Amino acid sequence: MQELPTQKGFDSIMSSVCTHGKDIINPYTNQHMYIPCGKCPACLLKKSSMASIKCEVQRAISRYCYMITLTYDTNTVPRARIITSEDDPDLHKFVVKPRPILYYDRKKTRKIEGLSHTDDFTYDFRYPSELMRDYRIKGSLSCDGKYPYLNDYVGYLSWKDFQLFMKRFRFKISKLLGRYEKIHTYVTGEYSPIHFRPHFHFLLFFDAEELAPHVGEFVSACWPYGRADWSAARKDASSYVAGYTNSSSRIPDFLSELPQIRAKSRFSNHFGEKFFTIAKRFAHEGQFSTFLNGESITINGRVLDVRPWRSIINSCFLPYAANTRRTGDELCRLVVDVQRAISQVCTRYGVRDKSSFSSTQAANAIYKLVFNDIDPIDRNEFYRSHPHFSNLLFFARINLDAHPFSQYDVDTILGQLYRLISTVRNFSKEWHISNFDYVTPELRNAVKISQDFYVSRDMYNLKKILQYEEFLDPVFLDVSMHPSEESVKRFSKTSYGTFILNKSRSRLDDSVKHREINDHNIKFVVDYGNYKTEAV
Ligand SMILES: [Zn+2]
Repeated sequence: MQELPTQKGFDSIMSSVCTHGKDIINPYTNQHMYIPCGKCPACLLKKSSMASIKCEVQRAISRYCYMITLTYDTNTVPRARIITSEDDPDLHKFVVKPRPILYYDRKKTRKIEGLSHTDDFTYDFRYPSELMRDYRIKGSLSCDGKYPYLNDYVGYLSWKDFQLFMKRFRFKISKLLGRYEKIHTYVTGEYSPIHFRPHFHFLLFFDAEELAPHVGEFVSACWPYGRADWSAARKDASSYVAGYTNSSSRIPDFLSELPQIRAKSRFSNHFGEKFFTIAKRFAHEGQFSTFLNGESITINGRVLDVRPWRSIINSCFLPYAANTRRTGDELCRLVVDVQRAISQVCTRYGVRDKSSFSSTQAANAIYKLVFNDIDPIDRNEFYRSHPHFSNLLFFARINLDAHPFSQYDVDTILGQLYRLISTVRNFSKEWHISNFDYVTPELRNAVKISQDFYVSRDMYNLKKILQYEEFLDPVFLDVSMHPSEESVKRFSKTSYGTFILNKSRSRLDDSVKHREINDHNIKFVVDYGNYKTEAV
């Protein structure tokens, strides 16, 4: 049995509960679940402390850790225009066009090709006109009139730039070492507090001694768009990067919401996972104790039990198996059908090497096939003759008759497809399943263990609830154990709820980097007032 938490421990459990979330349908299990809003103080704090822990975990298993910042020169900042509707001053369009113009480097001698060249999208969004007016002034790339031709433009985060940078960087590393070296990154893309300039911070983890002296040189060479700064990470590097994430609590809402341009953080694939190698080995044999109780790690002198996070759980145990009503046969069918659909689009679009076909590419290809290439009239016939595609769309929770028309619809569907495809692929890879012609005994076993895990986890949680039930007020029990829109609303109205909310607010405020400058931007966050609770 676990020990009961102290009052302080209990406060910290409660302060990580989001009271602004929503009840939704769990995309994996089709059951109701409560999802945190992702923007309020409780959410931001939880995110940043989880990010710090993950960074420390990766650090514990890496020899080197560097902190790197990438910024743009004015001429190379990815540009966008915001066009306001003539009928409704609060309605705007965020317009990014592919760039026919080439950029030049700082000395204006060398052309930089390929910058943001694939970006081509628009978003319609609402934002109060008076705030938009102020944002246009602050965010204009003209730098107070120094670059008049950039008057109408604002900068945006082009994640493509970072991806291409990493590609060049990895290439340089493999050329230097003459072999493939596994490197890990935690990147934060954000908007600066003064002019909302997009830039990136990232932590780089690796083991190769020969690489260490070349990090700076390689980073500069691979980032031709402006400054690149680097340093070996100090002790608190991970919390520093995580703290930047919290400054996103002070930028205009649309910069933290529009899917392709929003400020956010990302971990590289399999980040920190090696730490759980032994736990995973046990899990494959049906022993889940580390997955439920965590693995110990010492961070800044404190011993913490870190549980494998969701991406690790999802690759070890098929998340669709968490729904107790689905049978093993259905789940095996799902894995086989998704893999089959992928190989069919590969054949159709002439992709030879299926293993290098990314899940994003697979999602795009399936989207193209179903929504662009097949005439809507023939779709029913197509589903009939290709039942694995309809099964795939069903599990991805995509309406078979969907007619995506806005960029937002397209992004949503692609996101749903990507989630399903990458989940099934990671699971197959984790269990070394490669034959999808029929349901193999290996697949059946992996699915069975997944089902067992989710049953064990439910039991574990139930035990915890029973243990807490004896001494906890039912209002708090609901919120900490199975929150819903209703239970958190009830909780936030109690005086203890108000106390906790205020506490998260002030903890978040303290953790924002460059707090003073950032505080000037509070007005740009329309919802900010909603998250602020005055003392009672
Ligand atoms: Zn929240």
